[in-house]
Amino acid sequence: MEFEAVIGLEVHVQLNTATKIFCGCKNAFGASANTQTCPVCQGHPGVLPVLNREVLSKAMTAALAINATIAPETRFDRKHYFYPDLPKAYQISQFDMPLCSKGVVHITVPRDDGTQYEKDIGVTRIHMEEDAGKLVHDEHGEPVSYVDLNRAGTPLIEIVSEPELKSPEEAYQYLTELKKIMQYIDVSDCNMEEGSLRCDANVSIRPKGDTRLGTKAEIKNMNSFRHVRMAIEHEIKRQIKAVENGEQIVQETRLYDANQNTTRSMRSKEEAHDYRYFPCPDLSPQRITAEMIAAARAKLPELPNAKAARMRDAYGLSGQDIAVLIETRALAEYYEAAVAAYPKQPKKIANWIMVEVNAHLNDKGIPITAFTTVPPKHIGMLFKLIDDGVISGKIAKDVFADMITSGDEPSAVIERKGLKQVSDTGAIEDAVKKVIADNAAVVAEFKAGKEKSFGFLVGQVMKATKGQGNPKVVNDILRKMLG
Ligand SMILES: [Zn+2]
Repeated sequence: MEFEAVIGLEVHVQLNTATKIFCGCKNAFGASANTQTCPVCQGHPGVLPVLNREVLSKAMTAALAINATIAPETRFDRKHYFYPDLPKAYQISQFDMPLCSKGVVHITVPRDDGTQYEKDIGVTRIHMEEDAGKLVHDEHGEPVSYVDLNRAGTPLIEIVSEPELKSPEEAYQYLTELKKIMQYIDVSDCNMEEGSLRCDANVSIRPKGDTRLGTKAEIKNMNSFRHVRMAIEHEIKRQIKAVENGEQIVQETRLYDANQNTTRSMRSKEEAHDYRYFPCPDLSPQRITAEMIAAARAKLPELPNAKAARMRDAYGLSGQDIAVLIETRALAEYYEAAVAAYPKQPKKIANWIMVEVNAHLNDKGIPITAFTTVPPKHIGMLFKLIDDGVISGKIAKDVFADMITSGDEPSAVIERKGLKQVSDTGAIEDAVKKVIADNAAVVAEFKAGKEKSFGFLVGQVMKATKGQGNPKVVNDILRKMLG
């Protein structure tokens, strides 16, 4: 029997507001344990939560970015469970009146044969909730656990996809696209290592063509997109094997172990009724007005797909180039600012940024936003100097290396280092004469018809002019003098 997989993802995104969702404590990663807490986020009895307006605004912007419908009224509920990182023993979340529903994320999925296909993945809902604290185990080798409540009360949105993903690769592309969108709209840095983006996967299998959903397992503990893909792949295989062996799939939560690339059972999966959801009496329902939605919509920048389409038309770049350049909003903006400074070479500037600039960023391990010594207009200036014949493309690399360290404009670097291209025919003629005299054997080969020798002689003249001879002038004079 052939099986197909059905995958749904639950993605938690920490919002990058200045303060927490229900109190005024700072919302920032990395502070000393329990230094960003107060009675509200410590869960003392009798305190009252107050909703941070910015959380609602960012959550609405996220909803609009994936074309979701925002509810006219939304409400917070208490989700009850006991765990040491949740001192009040309930999480303020949303249950039956989430902020929004019915969104869509458009993905492009590569096939093994090099082709690709496009697909829309439905988003069931986005709701707001608070994060829990964090347990720190075995610190300094002591067999004890500590509780750090800095994270308690960090605003989250949970984005729940429809079970419409059919393969680990589709799940991977969905996450990549969702992360890109959340970063573009600046609601989160989506840093998986710091936990600002977390993902659980619901995986089930069914006989191919069947329309009923099989029993699902929820996979947790994946800390990179690559691990999400591997964990799902493993889980699909595990379930198929189990069914083929006549076993029943049980609804449960399984933990992914990246070292072993396997999943193991953690606990049987809770049903909604296990959480005893009920409306949070401390927070009144939120009425969402048209003005509030309009204000959130006004904060939407150009989104990745729209940017890709516009850039393809405006600059004549390939799909592959575009994919690299729009990877982050900052890189796309850097590129467009460079082209705006010198609009005649959009393709060459794209290549320069993808090769030279990216090599530097990778080497230093910094994002484009930290690349401050070379503002984009200096890249534009560099290409104007190449087109004007002031420097060759080869010398441009040396000029660029200097620009990175000095922060100078390219023309200043060229002036300071005397790198101006030599187009003066007298100086080049002298160099050509000397090269011809010094390389009699090669000259003879060329005259006997070996065209390759010409390239060698050009190289010698370029060397004699320290790479600054205008290549076209060098070629012309050399050919003339060789008769
Ligand atoms: Zn607090």
